[in-house]
Amino acid sequence: MPATFPTSPSSPTPAARRIAVVGAGLAGLACARTLAQAGVEVTLLDKATKPGGRMASRETPFGSFDHGTQYVTVRDPRFQQALDAASPGVLRPWSANAVRVLDPAGRVAEAALPTREPHWVAAPAMDALPRQWAAPLAGAGRLQLAARVVGIERDALDPKRWQLRAEGADESLRVLAGFDAVLLAMPAPQAGELLARSKLAPKFVEKLAGVDIAPCWTLMLAFPQAAQPGLPHLGPQWNAALSTHHRIAWLARESSKPRRGSVERWTVQASPAWSLEHLGDDEERVRAKLLKAFAEVTGIRAQPAHADLKRWRYAKTMTPLGRSHLWDARIGLGVAGDWCLGHRAEHAFVSGLELALAALEG
Ligand SMILES: Cc1cc2nc3c(=O)[nH]c(=O)nc-3n(C[C@H](O)[C@H](O)[C@H](O)COP(=O)(O)OP(=O)(O)OC[C@H]3O[C@@H](n4cnc5c(N)ncnc54)[C@H](O)[C@@H]3O)c2cc1C
Repeated sequence: MPATFPTSPSSPTPAARRIAVVGAGLAGLACARTLAQAGVEVTLLDKATKPGGRMASRETPFGSFDHGTQYVTVRDPRFQQALDAASPGVLRPWSANAVRVLDPAGRVAEAALPTREPHWVAAPAMDALPRQWAAPLAGAGRLQLAARVVGIERDALDPKRWQLRAEGADESLRVLAGFDAVLLAMPAPQAGELLARSKLAPKFVEKLAGVDIAPCWTLMLAFPQAAQPGLPHLGPQWNAALSTHHRIAWLARESSKPRRGSVERWTVQASPAWSLEHLGDDEERVRAKLLKAFAEVTGIRAQPAHADLKRWRYAKTMTPLGRSHLWDARIGLGVAGDWCLGHRAEHAFVSGLELALAALEG
């Protein structure tokens, strides 16, 4: 595997150590890659059928939608280094026409965000980034997908080590044994639930309970009828906006991103408060309400040919942990995720990296 991720210069090379990383979002990928680079025998597991977690994209006959992470911003040089080394050529700048801030009626309240840091998007879709980061692990047989970890327990043959119970897509159960450490890289409520169910690390469980992560209903709209060569866009002339409408927090024209295809497509993210209030609503109701709000904000009243929904149960950190990770060297258990530090993809990367470095220290 190429040396692509930064490691601590004083890290030992624990060649014989075996570590399980549960969760192949950006935090788990950063963590697993850093460990693998240091010579650890890593097993990365995810319950989904592809890696990436919330850095996700959905293919449709009208083109792709980035229904999770919309773009990344880079503030930590280690993230920049990892992006340059592990995913060359994948990220493209996205001007987004300078993101607008809209008032509840959809009028532009602020023409551009005060900070003009570059917005980067992966091409041809956001999920290209985690796919590229996962490829060396998958190639080395270190990535297990469709593996939902449902229990962590002491290894039946070697009680100093851990074993995991993992459920397949067909609900078949398998046991993976012989791990010196288990690192959970998933949203705090899911990590807390898994630890509590496994009757482990009550102090971690207590800390995780203080983290608050809001849900997000996300609407994906396509208007193929709007593609008129030579004519301006349907609706607003901006490509992305933060909205103060009570139902909608963010809108972006997917077709304005590089290498996305020209069919007019919008991704609409409901606000954290509205998503929470309507978490249990059926999709028809949510679709109708968000479509109405979309028309109010953009002035686009045309019927979309495609109106798909995704409900993220854990989307945006409202109250973070306030430190990069949790690690108990005594028992070999750790937890990471964006929610440790904030709500951005870069926070997930930093958290996963820091947990890997801590685990390498022992
Ligand atoms: C709608 C939306 C829009 C966003 N927009 C942006 C943006 O524009 N810019 C930005 O920087 N960030 C954005 N984010 C946040 C960004 O997506 C996250 O910060 C980042 O992807 C989190 O990575 P993670 O690895 O911490 O968690 P996740 O990506 O959630 O990964 C956790 C993984 O753990 C797996 N898992 C959970 N439980 C188990 C289990 N028991 N067994 C096995 N696997 C398990 C899950 O399947 C998942 O793949 C957005 C998020 C959402 C939802």
